[in-house]
Amino acid sequence: MSREDKGFTTFDLRITEPNKEPAVAPAAIHSMEHLMATWFRNSQVKDDVVYVGPMGCLTGMYIIMTGSYTVEDMRQLTIKCLEWILTQTEVPATTPETCGNYLLHDLPMCHWECRRYLDRLKNYFHSEYTKLQIMLNDGRIFADA
Ligand SMILES: [Zn+2]
Repeated sequence: MSREDKGFTTFDLRITEPNKEPAVAPAAIHSMEHLMATWFRNSQVKDDVVYVGPMGCLTGMYIIMTGSYTVEDMRQLTIKCLEWILTQTEVPATTPETCGNYLLHDLPMCHWECRRYLDRLKNYFHSEYTKLQIMLNDGRIFADA
């Protein structure tokens, strides 16, 4: 779930099981990105937040932090964040001026995914991190973000 390099810790918040469960719908994860970024950037850890954004495979979110945070710290923060999201009645910053694809939002489906993920974080949490790094046919290296 986390990897440290160059003074930063990347947390992989895996919302669905890759290639076994459906990925999160693009509009739902986009809304989740707006809401999670808003919560983290206004939270008690806001000064250590570097980045909050969705995985390209749409199975989770990345949160990059400075400072020292454990997986358990991030689990507790994410639980608070998701509980806050579930109280929200609109997605922030969804105008053409503030979002690159402002029509691609789905708050009800975002809430559905957040409820499901919250249940997992509270009741079925496990953390494992296997660094993926493979050599491509042309010799270049692919590593997950
Ligand atoms: Zn946006």
